[in-house]
Amino acid sequence: MSRRFQKRIEDFTCANCGSDVRGGGYTDHCPHCLWSRHVDVMPGDRASDCGGMMKPVEVRKQRGRYVIVYRCQRCGAVKKCRAAPEDSPDMLAEVMRRFGRCHP
Ligand SMILES: [Zn+2]
Ligand SMILES: [Zn+2]
Repeated sequence: MSRRFQKRIEDFTCANCGSDVRGGGYTDHCPHCLWSRHVDVMPGDRASDCGGMMKPVEVRKQRGRYVIVYRCQRCGAVKKCRAAPEDSPDMLAEVMRRFGRCHP
């Protein structure tokens, strides 16, 4: 197990779907499946050492922009993050649909 910290690396491989994600400066989640990692305490600060997978549990529309709500699969922390322009519209719709139903 590597305990190397990666400081402010923007390119990463999505641990959920395996896509190579090219960071655009503020990208902190995978545009294909929308999963993220629990690396921030405040958005962008990379101050959390949890490193758990953040699951997109809800998508809301706020002032014309999509906001993704995440729950960490490891520690249960909830965080919100703005959807990026390159995020898959299909996945955003899918998460919205899933939340609309009774979710497990
Ligand atoms: Zn992914
Ligand atoms: Zn966590």
